Amino acid sequence: MQAMVLHEPRQALRLEERPDPHPGPGELRLRVLACAVCRTDLHIVDGELPLPRLPIVPGHEIVGLVDELGAGVDARLLGQRMGVPWLGHTCGHCAYCRLGRENLCDDPVFTGHGRDGGFATHVVADASYCFPLAMAQDAVHAAPLMCAGLIGWRSLRMAGDDAIDLGLYGFGAAAHLVAQAAVQQGRRVFAFTRDGDTQAQDFARSLGAEWAGGSSEAPPRALDAAIIFAPVGALVPLALRAVRKAGRVVCGGIHMSDIPSFAYRLLWEERQLLSVANLTREDATEFLAFAARVPLHVETTSYPLARANEALSDLRSGRLQGAAVLIP
Ligand SMILES: [Zn+2]
Ligand SMILES: [Zn+2]
Repeated sequence: MQAMVLHEPRQALRLEERPDPHPGPGELRLRVLACAVCRTDLHIVDGELPLPRLPIVPGHEIVGLVDELGAGVDARLLGQRMGVPWLGHTCGHCAYCRLGRENLCDDPVFTGHGRDGGFATHVVADASYCFPLAMAQDAVHAAPLMCAGLIGWRSLRMAGDDAIDLGLYGFGAAAHLVAQAAVQQGRRVFAFTRDGDTQAQDFARSLGAEWAGGSSEAPPRALDAAIIFAPVGALVPLALRAVRKAGRVVCGGIHMSDIPSFAYRLLWEERQLLSVANLTREDATEFLAFAARVPLHVETTSYPLARANEALSDLRSGRLQGAAVLIP
């Protein structure tokens, strides 16, 4: 097999030839068809997240075909198209797992972080954390659903069912999917991009956003909730200012630059500020069923696996519209 391997944070990934992996009990192996590049991969490569092990193969938005099964895995999965998300394993017995909040497990394993991920021709995954993919999209267009879609979906749920006027800060891979899901649910989307990024604003409007503008602009009316996908702490006070009394601001990313101090009156009147961490398998099942029912437009830019570093650098510089996807 081939893999793009991170040996040290802040160094380029290296293309390596490795012995083919074989699944252990309860695991399966996939031949990777496509793996999307998430901003979390960028945080991992840039040394912004603690890493439990090195070297590591990043990548947790994997679509592949099951080509080998470990002991105890349902034989019907062989040959199936499946997706592998960020949540790679949970302990099953900590307080959070027992309460159905496995996204907060005390002893989790994340794909492409605590175990090798999908920037590779093959990947081994825990079969209990993989999902059959029934949506119409091909592998390249299905891959971004596995994290941008899933985390976006969880963030949308956290924004609240009563959030009709919804702001999205940072219009990248996650927001472009959430915008469509939100419009489908009868919400109105207000998209905030980098100031002056009229191309991203046009893109947002083309996906159904009622309004699009720069992050420093005020929306035309007070929002019920806002989700921040951009890793920019300075957006927090801006988003709090944009939501109504009792409005919610949801931080959807795993890492953010420091939040500048702000006046208490921005939080006053029962506004809420919260973060979204990881996903549960229930989120995945629910969102993938939605995606199979409602055809989402998934905007992608494809790169051959060996050019993963280029994909990461395009994501870092904001040159991308939609999601970068690696094809082995
Ligand atoms: Zn991700
Ligand atoms: Zn646990």
